[in-house]
Amino acid sequence: MDFDSVECVSSNNSIEMDEDEIIHHHHPQFASSKLSHTNSGIVNSTIHPATSVHELLECPVCTNSMYPPIHQCRNGHTLCSTCKTRVQNRCPTCRQELGDIRCLALEKVAESLELPCKYYSLGCPEIFPYYSKLKHEAICNFRPYNCPYAGSECSVMGDIPYLVAHLRDDHKVDMHSGCTFNHRYVKSNPREVENATWMLTVFHCFGQYFCLHFEAFQLGMAPVYMAFLRFMGDEIEAKNYGYSLEVGGYNRKLIWEGTPRSIRDSHRKVRDSHDGLIIQRNMALFFSGGDRKELKLRVTGRIWKEQQNPDGGACIPNLCS
Ligand SMILES: [Zn+2]
Ligand SMILES: [Zn+2]
Ligand SMILES: [Zn+2]
Ligand SMILES: [Zn+2]
Repeated sequence: MDFDSVECVSSNNSIEMDEDEIIHHHHPQFASSKLSHTNSGIVNSTIHPATSVHELLECPVCTNSMYPPIHQCRNGHTLCSTCKTRVQNRCPTCRQELGDIRCLALEKVAESLELPCKYYSLGCPEIFPYYSKLKHEAICNFRPYNCPYAGSECSVMGDIPYLVAHLRDDHKVDMHSGCTFNHRYVKSNPREVENATWMLTVFHCFGQYFCLHFEAFQLGMAPVYMAFLRFMGDEIEAKNYGYSLEVGGYNRKLIWEGTPRSIRDSHRKVRDSHDGLIIQRNMALFFSGGDRKELKLRVTGRIWKEQQNPDGGACIPNLCS
C-alpha cells in the first residue's frame, strides 16, 4: 500500500440498509481458481448420456471427454487434441505413427451431445450442445469473478462471498459497512506518482459489496488522482445503484456522480475510460493546503439505490389504467 495513512471516518447512518437483504450464495464446492471441472465429470454427474456413447467419447489417454478436433491413428484409435500434442506422433494404443487424421464421425457425435454449462455447480441451469456451450460459458452470469484487487497480478477467482473473504484475509483490504464514507488519503511526497500507487476499500451496503478505488497515475504527461466505485456483481445489477464522490477544500470542490462499474470490467479498463472522479495534481495540491509538500485529500461519498420501476420506467402505477 503506497499511501502513508488512510484515515477512515465512515459514518454508518444508512437508514435504507437492510441486513435481511444480504443474499448469500454459498457454494461449498467452490474454492479459488481450481474450479474448472473436467467435462466428463459433469456428464457423469448430471445428464447420463447412453454409457456407450459416453465411453466412445472418453479419451483413452487422459479419460476426459473428447471434443473437436478429435484425432485418430491409422488403425482407428482415437485421442483428444490435448493428448495428441503430448504423445510425440505415436499412437499411445498401438505405438504406430499418428499422423494428422481427424475422426469426423466422432466429432459429430460430440457436437450433438447436450452438456450442462461448466458453472452448473455455481447455479447455472443451462444445457447446450458443445459449441453453444462454449459461447455461453464465456458470458455465463454464474461464471466466477476475477479478484478485484488491483496493483498485483492476483489470479484468484470466485463468487462474491468468496472474493470478499479473500480481499479481507489475503489482501488485508479495509472493510466498511454503510453507504456513506469519508476518507482521508495522505501521501507525504505528492511528487511521486507511479502507476502502482493506489488504494482499495470495500463497502458493504444494501446487501451488496462495492470497491472504492483511489489511485494516482500518469494521464498523458500529467499526474492525476482518480477515485471510482466498482460493484461486486454483474453490470445489469450495478445499474441499480448510483454513487457520488466529493473532494475539496478552501471553498472549492469537485463532485462526481456516476453508476458503479461491474468488477467484470477490469480495474484498468475503468481507469482508462476515466469513468470516475479525476483530480488534477495542481487541484489536489490546492485542496491539500499547506506547503504543497504533502497530499492530503478528503474524499466523501455516498452510495444509493436507484428508484426501481418494475414496469420498465414508462409507467407510474397510479396513473396507469
Ligand atoms: Zn486426452
Ligand atoms: Zn493406434
Ligand atoms: Zn452458465
Ligand atoms: Zn486477490
